Amino acid sequence: MFRAMIVDKAEDGIVTAGVQEIAENRLPEAEVLVDVAWSTLNYKDGLCLTGKGGLVRTYPHVPGIDFAGVVAESADERYRPGDKVVLTGWRVGEAWWGGYSQRARVKADWLVPLPEGLDLRQTMAVGTAGFTAMLAVMDLEAHGLKPENGPVLVTGAAGGVGSIATAVLARLGYEVAAVTGRPETEGYLKELGAARIVPREELAEPPAKPLDRETWAGCVDAVGGNMLARVLTQMKYRCSVAAVGLAGGAAAPFTVVPFLLRGVNLLGVDSVMRPYEDRVAAWGRIARDLDMEKLEAMAQPAKLADLPELGRAILKGGVRGRVVVDVN
Ligand code: NDP
Repeated sequence: MFRAMIVDKAEDGIVTAGVQEIAENRLPEAEVLVDVAWSTLNYKDGLCLTGKGGLVRTYPHVPGIDFAGVVAESADERYRPGDKVVLTGWRVGEAWWGGYSQRARVKADWLVPLPEGLDLRQTMAVGTAGFTAMLAVMDLEAHGLKPENGPVLVTGAAGGVGSIATAVLARLGYEVAAVTGRPETEGYLKELGAARIVPREELAEPPAKPLDRETWAGCVDAVGGNMLARVLTQMKYRCSVAAVGLAGGAAAPFTVVPFLLRGVNLLGVDSVMRPYEDRVAAWGRIARDLDMEKLEAMAQPAKLADLPELGRAILKGGVRGRVVVDVN
């Protein structure tokens, strides 16, 4: 028996979440059994914990879209008992029982070995949010972003994706402009390396015209909606926006004019189905390009039992930085 966060849906549609003791034979069938050490809280976890967004189709369910732990049993030759592993994506925690559990059984293809230079806890302080922020930075670089091109905007900056993007970009020598709706996080964001703060209200309304002043050499956008539309009108010639999230809405009221007249690129960033090689590369870059003291400054601890409340909070934009969950 072991402990896991179980989300269930009653006949009247009400979704509840609570820690339960469960038997190992209830885990799904797959090659690798992992003793989970750490998990974390991402925006999607908020949706799964509260039954929102239609992500979880089958109940009862164990959420947790990422985890880090030690292999207990493996029927795949790539992993042996005692190996330290990390999992993000592959719809684990949505369509498969996830990391809010002391044990998880998953496909070997979904795992990556613990990246050199990081410990298990640090990987979950980064989590899917931070891993995706790194993928976004790498995609921007692949499209020509360099520090000398000009300032880079990070939206939803005090959240998980935004905090890691801010810290990584600052460490790489970029001038980071951090958009936040929480003025009280200014000191925090400047500690992470933001050169200046852009109040959310400045970018909250739909664009009034197809092109605005050329301002940003790049953008990591965790917000979507009106903010993404506004940012597109302010991009410099042939510069790129990495669209990561939808914390401010999925529908964005933009025209194609920035693409046609300024050669602006809108890059989609998916972390869930990302191939193994990209995953290993991104974790390697995190170990190299993220200041571990800054990672600690953005991480707060939590236990399994704290998750229902934290899940509601993250959906309201009420969590700062990253939450690291000790599942044991
Ligand atoms: P967080 O809640 O930690 O961060 C989101 C931030 O967005 C908030 O902290 C807040 O920042 C800002 N925000 C929230 N609501 C609004 C709003 N209505 N208007 C404008 N800004 C808002 O979530 P995560 O960092 O974990 O995830 C961010 C987004 O990225 C989510 O949509 C998530 O689903 C997506 N994501 C996508 C992935 C992918 O593979 N593409 C992987 C991981 C995440 P502030 O207070 O500073 O304004």
